[in-house]
Amino acid sequence: MSADASSIVGRLAPSPTGAQHLGNARTYLVAWLAARAAGGRVLLRIEDIDSPRVKPWAADQAVEDLRWLGLDWDEGPDIGGPCAPYVQSERIEHYAAALSRLIELGLAYPCTCTRSDIESAASAPHEAAMIDGPVYPGSCAGWRCGDPLPPESTYCWRFRTVDEEVEIEDQICGSVKLNPRRQLGDFPLTRKNGSAAYQLAVVVDDEAMGITQVVRGDDLVPSLFRQRPIIDALGYRRPQYFHVPLVLGADGRRLAKRHGDTRLSQYRQAGIAPEAIIGWAAHSIGLTDSPRPVAADRLIAAFDPNSLRRHPTIVDPSWPLVVN
Ligand code: GLU
Repeated sequence: MSADASSIVGRLAPSPTGAQHLGNARTYLVAWLAARAAGGRVLLRIEDIDSPRVKPWAADQAVEDLRWLGLDWDEGPDIGGPCAPYVQSERIEHYAAALSRLIELGLAYPCTCTRSDIESAASAPHEAAMIDGPVYPGSCAGWRCGDPLPPESTYCWRFRTVDEEVEIEDQICGSVKLNPRRQLGDFPLTRKNGSAAYQLAVVVDDEAMGITQVVRGDDLVPSLFRQRPIIDALGYRRPQYFHVPLVLGADGRRLAKRHGDTRLSQYRQAGIAPEAIIGWAAHSIGLTDSPRPVAADRLIAAFDPNSLRRHPTIVDPSWPLVVN
């Protein structure tokens, strides 16, 4: 990996919006191994700003799940560290400062559109395939810094994307290209209540915490193209990206309750060994030849990011797990 391995900093960034499941375990394992194999540090950050969806028990349970899996961290909400706090809901002033800068740079504008305004405008035939929800049609994009603001709580701030093809290198997916304006559209930096949205918070925190490696599920590939221009506009350092293929249910869709119970807490309560989950995760992502149980730290020495599978894995949650 890097010649200066000690400068590698990775993170585990659970969202406490529900229980962590098998797919999350696999992504955390890869994130942890990528940092540890490079002699790097690992941070734990709780991404709890999606307030309507946050469950009060879920952050503690995620910490318990991670520890049970045998993953550790050098800084985090439970142990502190130089970049504290490590909980997003306690970091809002950092997001507000970054937003002000984007507004000054002419890269953010207030948008009063409702979800249905956007859906009806975007349902008109569009020249590029929609890849991540309806593309914002730009109705409020005429606002310029210094123009009057709409009444408080009636607008979110939106980021002004570029209408050109952008190419980004991912360590697992390879080169990914997309036109942010046409395929994603201008996207929210805040909610209408003024709180920061995921795209802004994650970029501000990764910079403040010195993150050099972002390892997460490949459902967030489109978000790369939202986060990169914020990083560049604010003069932040660009991290390396590893987008890990998702674990899917038998119908080829994202793991959800209808596929059965894949919560880590459920396997834990059933007395299943964490090494069995790690063994399945490592094998299903291409790191080992067999799914036999193994402790996470036994995988550090042989970790090779080039052997990571690039396609999703289908899982049947009934035990024992079978690698498809
Ligand atoms: N908190 C996000 C999740 O649990 C991860 C976001 C990120 O890694 O950028 O899916």
